Amino acid sequence: MTSLTSASAGRDEPLDVALRPSGFSEFIGQAAARANLEVFIKAARTRGTALDHVLFVGPPGLGKTTLAQIVARELGVGFRATSGPVIAKAGDLAALLTNLEERDVLFIDEIHRLNPAVEEILYPAMEDYQLDLIIGEGPAARSVRIDLAKFTLVGATTRAGLLTTPLRDRFGIPVRLNFYTPEELVLIVERGARLLGVEMTTDGAMEVARRSRGTPRIAGRLLRRVTDFALVEGSHRVTASVADKALLRLDVDQRGLDQLDRRYLDVIATHYGGGPVGIDTLAAALSEPRDALEEIVEPYLIQQGFIQRTPRGRLLTAIAFQHMGLAVPQGFMG
Ligand code: ADP
Repeated sequence: MTSLTSASAGRDEPLDVALRPSGFSEFIGQAAARANLEVFIKAARTRGTALDHVLFVGPPGLGKTTLAQIVARELGVGFRATSGPVIAKAGDLAALLTNLEERDVLFIDEIHRLNPAVEEILYPAMEDYQLDLIIGEGPAARSVRIDLAKFTLVGATTRAGLLTTPLRDRFGIPVRLNFYTPEELVLIVERGARLLGVEMTTDGAMEVARRSRGTPRIAGRLLRRVTDFALVEGSHRVTASVADKALLRLDVDQRGLDQLDRRYLDVIATHYGGGPVGIDTLAAALSEPRDALEEIVEPYLIQQGFIQRTPRGRLLTAIAFQHMGLAVPQGFMG
């Protein structure tokens, strides 16, 4: 899935890096999460101890990686980053852990995708800063215990429900990130425009913000594309009408839904009478992985009130029918 508004696609674009806030003072939104983190960081610094382990939970592109980097910077410690699927063997994690210095931050993205054998050795590392490794095989195998530096693990996941309970319980600071409000996104778009040297009116920034699916990564990407259109058409400034024209050409509609979002709603409306329909059936009908639908497409549609998750499957709401320009079927209960 590589549409313009799928927040997870191309996550390491140079643009993302260029726009990434480097301190709390530049980080817009998520006020409650930020305020709490600042307190915990200050306390850890005052005590001179490692910060408790932090778990960031939320849809892709909301700033989990950015916050992890900011946490390390504000703590004044080293930062190492990896991701769940990349750590194939226990030995890979052991190598990472033994290279950490006192109070360093180790960031593991997509931590719900850790291999269970790797996860197992993470428990004592998180709890007692010890590594229990088995060296050798068969009767000659012996276990060795290695002391680790007192580090902070910062985990990020799009799906807290997929984390095992023992792992989840070992994070002292769980932080949930929410979709950004249009007002916050306006500030993010205006900051992006400033950094990219783009001239933009307030209503132009509002148009991009409103259609960014509540997600800073998408706001950054749409900003860049809208700017391209403006440049080629010879407009010096990105106004609301320039942004609107560009976004429609990019297939991003008035509510920020992209082609896949609309296909998703359309399949439920026209093939399944508005639902309820099971997620596996939907994934097959759309030829998209179930995970991608659950992680990327559905959270925003739910937040916007377009669909409901029920025990019998996904159900459209009247708002969704209206948005798609379809009549609500008679007797429909959604
Ligand atoms: P995640 O790890 O949750 O997928 P990232 O931390 O990689 O998300 O953020 C994606 C991009 O969005 C960043 O590179 C940055 O440009 C931008 N971004 C995220 N949060 C903010 C914010 N609060 N203010 C400004 N830009 C942000």
